[in-house]
Amino acid sequence: MTYDIIIIGGGLGGLTAGAKLAKEGRKVLLLEQHDRPGGCATTFKRKEFTMEVGLHEMDGLHPGDGKTKMFQDLGVLDGVEFLPVPEFYRFFNGRLDLVMPHNKEEAIDLLKNKFPDQSDGIDSYFDRLMNARRINILERDKPDISIGEYLDSIFTNEDIKLFLLGNLGYFHDDPYSLSLRYFSIAEAAYFHGRANFIKGGSQKLSDRLMEIIRENGGKVLLSHKVTAINTDEASITSIVFKNALSDKHIEITARAKEYIANAALLNIAEMMSSEHGIKLRKQIEPNAVAASLLTVYFGFSKSLKDFGHKYYSTFIFDESIADQKDIVRNNRDDFSKRSFTFVDYSQVDSQLAPEGKSVGAICVTDYLEDWENLSKEKYKIRKNEVAEIFTSRLEKLIPGVTEIISHVEVGTAKTIKRYTLNPEGAVYGFAQNPNRKPVETVESLHNLHIASAWGKFGGGFSGAIYSGYMTAMEILRKR
Ligand SMILES: Cc1cc2nc3c(=O)[nH]c(=O)nc-3n(C[C@H](O)[C@H](O)[C@H](O)COP(=O)(O)OP(=O)(O)OC[C@H]3O[C@@H](n4cnc5c(N)ncnc54)[C@H](O)[C@@H]3O)c2cc1C
Repeated sequence: MTYDIIIIGGGLGGLTAGAKLAKEGRKVLLLEQHDRPGGCATTFKRKEFTMEVGLHEMDGLHPGDGKTKMFQDLGVLDGVEFLPVPEFYRFFNGRLDLVMPHNKEEAIDLLKNKFPDQSDGIDSYFDRLMNARRINILERDKPDISIGEYLDSIFTNEDIKLFLLGNLGYFHDDPYSLSLRYFSIAEAAYFHGRANFIKGGSQKLSDRLMEIIRENGGKVLLSHKVTAINTDEASITSIVFKNALSDKHIEITARAKEYIANAALLNIAEMMSSEHGIKLRKQIEPNAVAASLLTVYFGFSKSLKDFGHKYYSTFIFDESIADQKDIVRNNRDDFSKRSFTFVDYSQVDSQLAPEGKSVGAICVTDYLEDWENLSKEKYKIRKNEVAEIFTSRLEKLIPGVTEIISHVEVGTAKTIKRYTLNPEGAVYGFAQNPNRKPVETVESLHNLHIASAWGKFGGGFSGAIYSGYMTAMEILRKR
């Protein structure tokens, strides 16, 4: 079997690249080991509820946003409805209870009202964020610093720093090892435009992208896992894959001119038996793998909005977090203290539950090492304990909510690893540390390209989608 392009993995990066290349007339084969497309951008059914795996908020989609143009070009908007979420986030830490708006002017007014003695810092912060691209270019020869160091340099009040880091979990687990350059671009995207949920869940976007590949003559094989990558001196010559559902172990070889890695780069390196695997491992070695996330999925017998709850996304920081350096410690703390976010999907027309019912999710930083060595039985017990801990923490946030919970379930870093094969159950690819060297290409193989959170744009829906589209453009320019 010979193709123009073979894509290993059907996460958002792989799907976007595939959609663009198929639409431009290239013969595409995309192989996805899971039974559905999307990777982290998937949903699953429990009773009458649709549980969202990986989308709280997707930034952008205002007229000037790059993704708007990409989606128009691909025809994504015909079948997928993006719902603006009402506010950026509510933040609560026992001392502060504040709602961050999406609008920059409103955010500045709110902050200056609440922290009048931090006014200069507030101006500097928004100037840095809203002009991030220009400033990053101007400062490209200077060393990058962390967002933590930057906030310490412009503010004297600890709570304003914590409030501005409310949604830190969207990017990383520690402000002192998160690049200011990366943070300012990624965070500004929420203030430049808006944030969105997808009606029916992120699976709708992943399904639509898969449909575009197929409509344009491309082939998507679900439940098909790539097991080996064959190479010669400077290129991939073929890949080997098998049907993950079949016990016949039949291996199929396919060839293409160009190959795209959507699967984690560490896994790609492992699939190469040659020198190239060693070289790729060496190339990516300096990059740390980002943290994972644990989610507690809730199905409610009532709409939480009708129940009186008012916010789409609420970030609860534990009271013991006095300043930024406490954040990373707290992220390793017991789940009864670890900071979390609660997303109430009933605040938008999410269509995740039947009329009058709703779905919500608690999400918290998580580490594979806390789960991978537990026996099957202990793993189950621990997950039940975590479900109980977060149910009682949710009860404190929304009194009476326990009465209307009709389904609760926990997915851990181990769950993410199981369904995406990502090392450490990472959801954002490599950690965006200051002075990191983003992996742009695979140096030793001229026909292997990266379209994923592990590439130069980083993680999140936007990072993966940009990576996919731009990689497709590079291949189109090349051929
Ligand atoms: C709980 C959670 C909450 C999140 N919240 C948000 C949010 O609110 N906003 C946001 O922007 N981002 C969020 N993210 C992050 C975002 O979803 C991811 O960063 C992004 O979707 C990653 O896309 P990707 O293309 O890199 O691939 P991934 O989603 O990592 O998918 C890789 C794919 O490759 C497949 N694969 C791997 N190995 C093989 C193989 N050998 N053969 C075939 N297939 C293979 C996997 O099965 C998988 O489908 C969240 C993620 C999670 C898990």
